[in-house]
Amino acid sequence: MRKEFLPFSIPTIGEEEIAEVVDSLRSGWITTGPKVKIFEDAFKSYVGAPFAVPLSSATAGLQLAMMALGIGPGDEVVTTPMTFAATVNMIVRVGATPVLADIEPGTLNMDVAAAREKITERTKAIVPVHFAGLPCDMDAIFALAREFNLRVLEDAAHAVGTEYRGKRIGSLDSVSVFSFHPIKNITTGEGGMVCTRDEKLAEEVSLLKFHGMSREAWKRYSAQGTPNYDIVLPGFKCNMMDIQAALGIHQLAKLDRFIEQRSGIAALYNEAFSSVEEIIIPSAAAYDHRHAWHLYTPLVRIEELTIDRDGFMAELKKENIGTGLHFKAVHHHPWYRENLPVPAGSLPNADYASDRILSLPLFPKMTMEDAADVVEAVKKVLARNRR
Ligand SMILES: *Cc1c(COP(=O)(O)O)cnc(C)c1O
Repeated sequence: MRKEFLPFSIPTIGEEEIAEVVDSLRSGWITTGPKVKIFEDAFKSYVGAPFAVPLSSATAGLQLAMMALGIGPGDEVVTTPMTFAATVNMIVRVGATPVLADIEPGTLNMDVAAAREKITERTKAIVPVHFAGLPCDMDAIFALAREFNLRVLEDAAHAVGTEYRGKRIGSLDSVSVFSFHPIKNITTGEGGMVCTRDEKLAEEVSLLKFHGMSREAWKRYSAQGTPNYDIVLPGFKCNMMDIQAALGIHQLAKLDRFIEQRSGIAALYNEAFSSVEEIIIPSAAAYDHRHAWHLYTPLVRIEELTIDRDGFMAELKKENIGTGLHFKAVHHHPWYRENLPVPAGSLPNADYASDRILSLPLFPKMTMEDAADVVEAVKKVLARNRR
């Protein structure tokens, strides 16, 4: 057994990030300013999006993007139950009704055929989530959106660096929302980015993120600006700070290496678990793609065991292996069970995954020996708890 606890995720922060944050702290300017602009430009050019708006979180990005898309009361938004609650919470918070479509059993991404069946005349938008960093079938989603005149909002929280048929997520003809929370592929502490090809939409999100102020605050205090400003709509306060962007600038430069390291660990897991009967490894997609491997999320066939998934995670912890839960299906959470109940058994693939999924350790600093320890611990726990 491992002597030291292996957490399921640790951010990879180097001396460059630390020095850049210190530079902000010493500079006299710590909130939104030149470093946010540098990060925004670098991110835009990395994903290939003409417009990007840096924010305090992806949750804020989802909310503001939906507001900018005009999604509100009376509208239905089709999305997946296998996501972090924020995706669906924000649909509720803009006053719309979330409609959950079942997932594909292998990739755990939203099943486009199931999404089609959920479309009504009130459906305004479709919100796919690139689960764990595996891109959804965007051609099929765009075709559906064209057929029913829907807006497409990609929850790309897992998909920084994901590619779909040779194109980076963020560059497609939609709106994409990325997250830089510490467990995501790159981090700014907390942070998010909205990317789009639609200039007006980017402008609207930009206004909503900072009081509805027509000019960026830092320009007001610079030599070129004037202290005067106009409020052109009642906005929120979810701008990214320079001390966050200071991290992001260097994280982004390391992203491709991070993804390579994550892919190596994922490949080791896939290989090791493909012959383990009680573990269902994540499926690849049939189309050309680059998986960003934000998470490694196998399903445990608990029907073959004497313990449930939570018991399985507790047993792994005893072996000094940390795990995460991404995710319990949204409709299983108390608020959603009570306020937006779905008929029992109507989302069978999500129900199946929700009870069996767990996230094994996956982060760039992990070694192959760490990953081998995880495999050994999983096999040990399975052997101890077979029916
Ligand atoms: C992490 C996450 C979010 C929220 O991101 P924050 O930056 O923490 O607000 C939204 N959707 C999904 C699928 C996520 O995993």
